[in-house]
Amino acid sequence: MNQRKEISKSLKCLLLKNGIEIWKESERLEALKNSLINLQNHFFVVIDEDEINTAEIAGIFSAKTMAEYTKRKNGEFKCVYGKWHGKFEKCYCDETEIKEYRKIKPSVPDTQTKNLSPNDKEKVFEEMRENLKKKLGWNNS
Ligand SMILES: [Zn+2]
Repeated sequence: MNQRKEISKSLKCLLLKNGIEIWKESERLEALKNSLINLQNHFFVVIDEDEINTAEIAGIFSAKTMAEYTKRKNGEFKCVYGKWHGKFEKCYCDETEIKEYRKIKPSVPDTQTKNLSPNDKEKVFEEMRENLKKKLGWNNS
């Protein structure tokens, strides 16, 4: 019985300065990367049907980086809560956070923080905000 030898290889993108994206198996681009390190003179590399001037190479990027690059190119942006928003979209994450916060802990701010000093109160709120962000899967990066 013939076992299928098709392995899904991870792809990487060779991005050219003119915006052209060339997606190849990462092992192949790894070899190219090694020949680009300490490059003194530019040369042409042949990758399948393409001939590329190394002077035109912007970089070799992972699929994750390219996904972000494409989003930004299309006008999308990542807000301070780490969520992506469309070009003409406004970020309402702050309001969402407050709404979610009220849903989860309706009466906590008054009952638990009533007798605290303003500084301690702020600390409690900050902790709650951090917990909520974790719960919602948000991050600040
Ligand atoms: Zn947002």
